[in-house]
Amino acid sequence: SIKGKVYRTYAVFDEKMRSQKMRERQVENDIVSALENGELQLYVQPKVDMRDGRVIGGEALVRWKHPEKGLVPPREFIPVLEKNGFIINVDEYIWEKVFAYLGKLHREDRMLVPVSINVSRLHAYDEKLAETLIRLREEYDVPPEYVPLELTESAFLEDEAGMYRRMESLRERGFLVSMDDFGTGYSTMNMLKNQTLDEIKIDKEFIRDLEKDKSRIIIRNTIAMLQQLGVHIVIEGVETEEQKSFLLGCGCTDAQGFLFHRPMPVEAFDALLLQQECEYDRTK
Ligand code: C2E
Ligand code: MG
Ligand code: MG
Ligand code: MG
Repeated sequence: SIKGKVYRTYAVFDEKMRSQKMRERQVENDIVSALENGELQLYVQPKVDMRDGRVIGGEALVRWKHPEKGLVPPREFIPVLEKNGFIINVDEYIWEKVFAYLGKLHREDRMLVPVSINVSRLHAYDEKLAETLIRLREEYDVPPEYVPLELTESAFLEDEAGMYRRMESLRERGFLVSMDDFGTGYSTMNMLKNQTLDEIKIDKEFIRDLEKDKSRIIIRNTIAMLQQLGVHIVIEGVETEEQKSFLLGCGCTDAQGFLFHRPMPVEAFDALLLQQECEYDRTK
């Protein structure tokens, strides 16, 4: 009967909800010990100049090495942590590692490159955000322009005015604001008109179907528009030579993607920078 069917559907739905809730509770329980036991690690994905492959910076990405489950990808725990607020602790833990690393480069008179950090939606609304960043930059003696803040496009949707105000005050303090996941949200055009952004990261979805005429038209013109607006562009998710040459043809040079480097432990990123510094010294 129809009634029977409806009940069965609910039962299945209920079961799904229950296991989803259980998974969420599991993450909540585990994350506390993860922070205490150093299971969260800083990975960095290099950003390169596509013309010569030179590393021009990096993005800090969290990795969770769970003692039983192995490597847990961010998409499986970040949404949960955004719900329960724990993302703020995780972000600050990762940021501190970034500031500490850059502070060390600075002290040792090594070449500094910007390593951007992700600011979660929740964190972007936290009144203490600026305070935390200023404390870290002072404690580790890192010039603020070396830690650009990546904010996801959708973070700007609620309380746009409040967000602009907070971003502006961070920019006045020397931090750079980068809009992440550009092209996946809604209020993009308004935002470009109303807010000063230092950088835009074009989402990998945007460059996925380059074989389509329409896609190429949209990408080429979006890049031209952003360049005319004076916004620095980074393209995310470059995986093929075809994408690379098309984007270079559009006048876009800075990118991040598996074609160049995957995210790596900060120690490996450091080795890459060191190698580059040596090569530079030789050609000088
Ligand atoms: P995102 O900030 O847009 O980071 C870029 C993501 O794209 C990373 O995934 C990176 O590994 C992936 N990626 C880079 N190049 C390629 C490519 O060529 N192909 C493909 N398929 N993927 C590529 P990841 O590390 O899994 O992170 C996913 C998302 O989780 C990030 O997206 C970011 O929103 C969030 N996230 C990661 N670490 C943190 C963190 O420490 N704090 C916060 N708040 N969010 C984080
Ligand atoms: Mg990012
Ligand atoms: Mg991104
Ligand atoms: Mg993205």
